[in-house]
Amino acid sequence: MAYQPSTPAYHPEQTRVCPKCKGPVERVRRRFIDRLISLITPVQRYRCRAKGWGCDWEGNLR
Ligand SMILES: [Zn+2]
Repeated sequence: MAYQPSTPAYHPEQTRVCPKCKGPVERVRRRFIDRLISLITPVQRYRCRAKGWGCDWEGNLR
């Protein structure tokens, strides 16, 4: 759940990658909590495409 903003080599805009495995991510429908967060900070929820294949990351990216 908690997105950890600790990855220094994080890519800027456009190319969103999984902060865990650097793989591609896909947008997923936001949850209620995300809408609340978006009232303060616009975010999109993403999920790693490798989900189920070794990486289970899902979280919010701007
Ligand atoms: Zn991943």
